[in-house]
Amino acid sequence: MAARKLAAGNWKMNGTRAALAEIDQILTEAQPGCDLLICPPATLIHAVATKGIPTGGQDCHANPSGAHTGDIAADQLRDAGASHVILGHSERRTDHAETDAAVAAKAVAAHQAGLIAVICVGETEAQRDAGETLDVIAAQLAGSVPDCATAANTVLAYEPVWAIGTGRTPTNEQIAEVHALMRDRLSARFADGADMTLLYGGSVKPGNAADIFAIPHVNGALVGGASLKASDFSPIIAALA
Ligand code: PEP
Repeated sequence: MAARKLAAGNWKMNGTRAALAEIDQILTEAQPGCDLLICPPATLIHAVATKGIPTGGQDCHANPSGAHTGDIAADQLRDAGASHVILGHSERRTDHAETDAAVAAKAVAAHQAGLIAVICVGETEAQRDAGETLDVIAAQLAGSVPDCATAANTVLAYEPVWAIGTGRTPTNEQIAEVHALMRDRLSARFADGADMTLLYGGSVKPGNAADIFAIPHVNGALVGGASLKASDFSPIIAALA
């Protein structure tokens, strides 16, 4: 099995039911050559899934149920129609102090609920400037990806923190270097690590998508701002398909 190509949209805390029209437009325009995923706010998961497009949550709790006001369990995401869940996004790591261990525990919960975990890793600008990028990514991979990960239940996303929502992207060489490291580490640790889907995320736009998708071991993208409008996301999907 080769790594599957995936165009994933992370709507973050954006979108009400009015935004569902964008899903209809994306489905009208989508090419069949890659997998699609939309991760809307939890309030829209059921409605998006009902349209027949693979749908993901943006976080889940490590526990299956209980007294955790405001949180959502992996099984509840699954029940609402989700097939995936983003875990360890840098905004969760920063805003909610999520550690690698917490991300790994959530990934185990996601797998137990039958969800595909989209686990994010990425360095800060200070870490890149200090020459620590590869060490940071290796440590996050080791700590955030649980032993039960397989190519079927886990997708990895390299998202440099400084590239998210900024309009800045690493050079192709910088992306290639990190993706090669990820492939090496995952292949060394997991029997099917060579087949795991590796995404790049951080200011992917219609204008840079094709160049990024040509980089070795980049199997697709996790797209934030440019996934909110079909007019932006559809060309990105087309560049991958
Ligand atoms: C993200 O938040 O996952 C992301 C990649 O955002 P953006 O595409 O807006 O940089």
